[in-house]
Amino acid sequence: MIIGILDIQGAVSEHEVAFQRAFKAKNMQGSTKLVKTLDDLKGIDGLALPGGESSAISAQLARLEMDKEIHSMVEQGFPIMGTCAGTILLAKRLITDMDEEITVPLGLMDITVKRNAFGRQKESFEHYIEIKNMNKPYGAVFIRAPMITEVGNGVEPMAILNDEMVIARQNNMLAMVFHPELTMDTRIHEMFIDIILER
Ligand code: GLN
Repeated sequence: MIIGILDIQGAVSEHEVAFQRAFKAKNMQGSTKLVKTLDDLKGIDGLALPGGESSAISAQLARLEMDKEIHSMVEQGFPIMGTCAGTILLAKRLITDMDEEITVPLGLMDITVKRNAFGRQKESFEHYIEIKNMNKPYGAVFIRAPMITEVGNGVEPMAILNDEMVIARQNNMLAMVFHPELTMDTRIHEMFIDIILER
């Protein structure tokens, strides 16, 4: 299995390490590939969109003409995982606090996402969350986290914190508003590997 990590901006190397550790935890062969160009999208089994700055990532995705290709791959069942800014990019609908909004989401997942809804940098926090089918709480790191404010029928809540959906799944798409790559706990990366294995 080869998992691509979108390498435009944000927490990229942390996802590489996390997936490598997740493969080890699952006792399986697997590797990661940094995806910087349209061509790099070939030969991967899934793609992770890291957290960072969604406006910067979205502008580059369009400039590199990767947005349409990712869209059509995912529509055909290709597994994708979004973390924080990555979740903003997956959304069909965006609510923003920015006047000069330039983020154009990929428009794949039937969710409405509000940028920076959990607050700015200084309101970043860690919180234990209960995740569906996991027997131990997971320590999640929220950094300028977006909020999933609305979901369509096909979206399954995988974790809720204070009435807010913090992990959502829609078929081959997994989205979370926090940063799983910043902790040693590999269970969320393993969850994405399982989604790829379901294919
Ligand atoms: N607030 C950022 C954005 O809107 C996302 C923050 C993050 O990925 N940690 O893009």
